[in-house]
Amino acid sequence: MNIIQTLATSHKWNLPTVCPVCGGELRLSDNHCQLKCVNEYCKSKMSGRIGKWTSTIEAKEFGLKTIETLIDNGVIDSISSLYTMDLDKIASIDRMGKRSAAKMKKELDSHKEMTLAQFIAGYNIEGVGERVIENIINSKKYKTFNDFFAYAESPLRFVCDGVGDTISNKLAQGLEALREDMEKTLTFITIKNPVPKKVVTGGVLGGKSFCFTGAASRPRKELWALVEKNGGVIHESIKKDTDYLVLADVNSTSSKAVKARKQGTNLLSEDDFVKMCGV
Ligand SMILES: [Zn+2]
Repeated sequence: MNIIQTLATSHKWNLPTVCPVCGGELRLSDNHCQLKCVNEYCKSKMSGRIGKWTSTIEAKEFGLKTIETLIDNGVIDSISSLYTMDLDKIASIDRMGKRSAAKMKKELDSHKEMTLAQFIAGYNIEGVGERVIENIINSKKYKTFNDFFAYAESPLRFVCDGVGDTISNKLAQGLEALREDMEKTLTFITIKNPVPKKVVTGGVLGGKSFCFTGAASRPRKELWALVEKNGGVIHESIKKDTDYLVLADVNSTSSKAVKARKQGTNLLSEDDFVKMCGV
């Protein structure tokens, strides 16, 4: 048990219920380890959210420190506000000046095309990454942002292969809370069609499925790309028919590793996986 859990179950202590930053309601996270503010527009979340956005569009001028400075100086307070920044205000901030203001504007202007999945994932809704959104778009045949609001009364409308109740719920709640800002941002962004992925048939991993867990020395995206490039199939979570579980320690006793061994999934180290791909 950590401190928050201990405090939460003790009767002597009352956990704070109000966010010190915005006055919103605080709730325990799913794993009961953190107190989180439920207000999606809370300043405490905004720098992380905007940072995720600027890294999605690869706007390198916007490091976390810069974003925090811009928020503290009242230049931005949401993702959409990036696109209406007051350049004179930026120019007047210590150590920023006119040149950085112009550079920032230029970067935003030159990165205005993105896919629908990048757009939604860029809003950093907890647990909902680009691949999850891609899954949903493909399974549900969504074409536009508005399609995500069909049957809006049902928080389970996104459930499909690889997307369970929890993720669907989180996405539904996140979209509901962020919709207004997303719609504003959409007026500055062009949604482009994703480049269809070349499906490799055959290949050294032909027909074999792979699931990755835990930390690895290469980014997860790079490992996934190797699977696809060599004709393998990615399982985002371990399934009954997953052929390989790739993890740091093949002798691990984590619940995933135990489950894998029990059902006959092969355990593979990252290095052995990479060798398998002939890298
Ligand atoms: Zn808050």
